[in-house]
Amino acid sequence: MNGKLLIFSAPSGAGKTTIVKRLLEKHGDKIAFSISASTREPRGTEQDGIDYYFISKEDFLHKVAKQEFIEFEEVYSGTFYGTLRSEVERIWQEGKHVIFDIDVVGGLRLKSKFPDQALAIFVNPPSLEVLKERLTGRGTDSAEKLQERFAKAEHELSFADKFDVVLQNNDLETACAEAEQLVLDFINS
Ligand code: 5GP
Repeated sequence: MNGKLLIFSAPSGAGKTTIVKRLLEKHGDKIAFSISASTREPRGTEQDGIDYYFISKEDFLHKVAKQEFIEFEEVYSGTFYGTLRSEVERIWQEGKHVIFDIDVVGGLRLKSKFPDQALAIFVNPPSLEVLKERLTGRGTDSAEKLQERFAKAEHELSFADKFDVVLQNNDLETACAEAEQLVLDFINS
């Protein structure tokens, strides 16, 4: 099967991870999560091989050299994230569509590589203030890391209109229902 790509991008803290998790809980028979490789340390309850493939920078750069990534990026300085070709192919072989939780630049890059097969959704937080509160509330990042995340979030908000759809996340339940409708319409089209 030539599966589709369901891209959820947003600044970190906009709620995209929660929306993607909900979709997977409900539609895991049709869609599967593209587990990215990352060189950052696991946070909280995150597990290797479930949330990310947590790998060393050396290992990551080795995979870059072997062209194992469809896209990759130094999302934060010194911290790399990337989508493995093997991951997408594995999911398509299972007969499922692939869902991505990916940063804005990576999301647009995937969309440009698969223009017809991909639906690119930008999850818009209620405001920059709310986004900052959410990022701070996690309590898992240092002050310096938080500043970097704030600056990046502000920049990423300006990319919204380059996506196929902007999904407003003022209320999580409403946003999840809208996301579900968008995804089902697209995979059935
Ligand atoms: P976090 O460290 O909060 O898990 O993720 C930081 C940012 O990197 C988020 O916006 C997340 O969606 C993004 N990200 C996760 N995986 C990938 C990937 O494979 N490629 C790119 N470009 N960004 C990713």
